[in-house]
Amino acid sequence: MESNIEGKVIVITGASSGMGEAAAKHLANLGAVVVLGARRFENIEKLAKEIRENGGKSLAIATDVTRRDQVKKLVDSAVETFGRVDVLLNNAGIMPLSPIDRLNMDEWDQMIDVNIKGVLNGIAAVLPHMKNQKSGHIINTASVAGHKIFSGSAVYSATKFAVRALSEGLRMEVKPYNIRTTIVCPGAVKTELLEHITEADVQKANKEYVGAVGLNPESFGRVVAFAISQPEDMDINEIIFRPTAQE
Ligand code: NDP
Repeated sequence: MESNIEGKVIVITGASSGMGEAAAKHLANLGAVVVLGARRFENIEKLAKEIRENGGKSLAIATDVTRRDQVKKLVDSAVETFGRVDVLLNNAGIMPLSPIDRLNMDEWDQMIDVNIKGVLNGIAAVLPHMKNQKSGHIINTASVAGHKIFSGSAVYSATKFAVRALSEGLRMEVKPYNIRTTIVCPGAVKTELLEHITEADVQKANKEYVGAVGLNPESFGRVVAFAISQPEDMDINEIIFRPTAQE
């Protein structure tokens, strides 16, 4: 039985599919109150309803993480409805991989907007509340690609290196407020992430690889629960996990 999760109010971005959805289900099963954000409102509304039907507490708020006002509304709604925000799982992300010389510059912008600015928008939205509470936990999803570069991953990796950098800076700054920070770096996990790769050859190669070795998204839920469940005086700073078969 995992501890220190029951009753916590956990805001999750990117909860409409893949690892965010799996984490929401797992944490709700462990007794957390989950507040779900993503653009596909029908997905998060359906999940929130399922959680409530199973006796849990949940709320779904349509959220584009590139929009500061919408991320603030997501977090403020959690506080208005449930009285506090204990954890932010900054998980929304996109990965339209391609070699730099194909010059998919709009996709570079989108990755920077969602993967970096989206994470910063989440941090900005929760920090005032967590400072007031003198407690909180900010978990940012980076990647194994935030530690090493793969062919075609330069811009995506740059965004995930950035997530790790700003998480570590945040960790050092929020100590006075008793706020924990965790970076989670998944390896290959079977989700919808590869569907948004627009280069056919890159998508094919990645789908073959992840299809062969990828973990199920529930793996991420277990890792996040492990970090949250530690006693408040212990901060799991970073977790890297990957399929045993992954390089
Ligand atoms: P999915 O594509 O299944 O999930 C991505 C989630 O991000 C969706 O819920 C999507 O919701 C949300 N999202 C994308 N853009 C926005 C936006 N502008 N505003 C709000 N939400 C947004 O992929 P994963 O579950 O794999 O990805 C989750 C995280 O894990 C990402 O940060 C990804 O980079 C990271 N990661 C994934 C790995 C993998 O192998 N799968 C490996 C390492 C890291 P919606 O479209 O409804 O807005």
